[in-house]
Amino acid sequence: MSRRVITKILTTIIAIFAIILTFIITDPVHAGALVVTFIDVGQGDTALLQCDGRAMLIDAGPNAAAKTVVAFLTEKGVAAFDYVVGTHPHEDHIGGLDAVINYAGSIGEVWMPYTQTHTRTFEDVLDAVESRKLTVTQPPVGKTYPLGDSTITILGPIGQNYAELNNYSIVLRVDHGGNSFIFTGDAENLSEDEMLRAGSPLNGDVLKVGHHGSSTATSDAFLIKVDPTYAVISCGKGNQYGHPDAETVNKLEVARVTILRTDLDGSVVITSDKGKLSVAQDTKR
Ligand SMILES: [Zn+2]
Ligand SMILES: [Zn+2]
Repeated sequence: MSRRVITKILTTIIAIFAIILTFIITDPVHAGALVVTFIDVGQGDTALLQCDGRAMLIDAGPNAAAKTVVAFLTEKGVAAFDYVVGTHPHEDHIGGLDAVINYAGSIGEVWMPYTQTHTRTFEDVLDAVESRKLTVTQPPVGKTYPLGDSTITILGPIGQNYAELNNYSIVLRVDHGGNSFIFTGDAENLSEDEMLRAGSPLNGDVLKVGHHGSSTATSDAFLIKVDPTYAVISCGKGNQYGHPDAETVNKLEVARVTILRTDLDGSVVITSDKGKLSVAQDTKR
């Protein structure tokens, strides 16, 4: 082999290694980052959390978005979940959950609040859970769980009986280095007040705004306590509920919170490298 050929082969090998190394370094999922994607599911909620090769899904959008959510997970190569959460049994949160449970390669725990509705959607989720030989549990308030290098802490619901299904929403915080995310589901003012009175650790850099920005959530006291830098509102373009409420948007603007909306921005990706947070949009969806 001539020296020229050897040099060419060596150069090629080095180039390939450089590409692989660049991929490993810049791929946040590999770099110990926490990547949170608020998938645009129209009117509904879905958040995918990825940290150190671990994954968690909080809600799965409405029935109409089941294909979108599964396609997104497939594209990201995410099939194993430590936790799959249905914050509360409303269709815009658990509609796609049966499809995700059936699609998943493995699921550690399925979390839902101990409450029921008599809808086909809810039955479909329970059937999927049963067919995968899983059980549904409600994680107790105050308990912490690992997600790679992140820590999940359960904040709500504090009560056991509510007139409004939204208040059964599982509320949790996720800490990653110095960054924290608060996920509220559709928890309304009543649940917010209970967490405030309990002295729950509500401070967060990112707030998934409760109930799609409806006026029934995000009380002044709650917003002051969370004091977020970013507020994510997950809702459908021109939705029939008028979400988000103009008053809520105004409240966030006055508090100088950066608002990210799935109806306007598409899927929103927030990455924590433990120190800083970076935001990206994924308008493809
Ligand atoms: Zn909802
Ligand atoms: Zn709801």
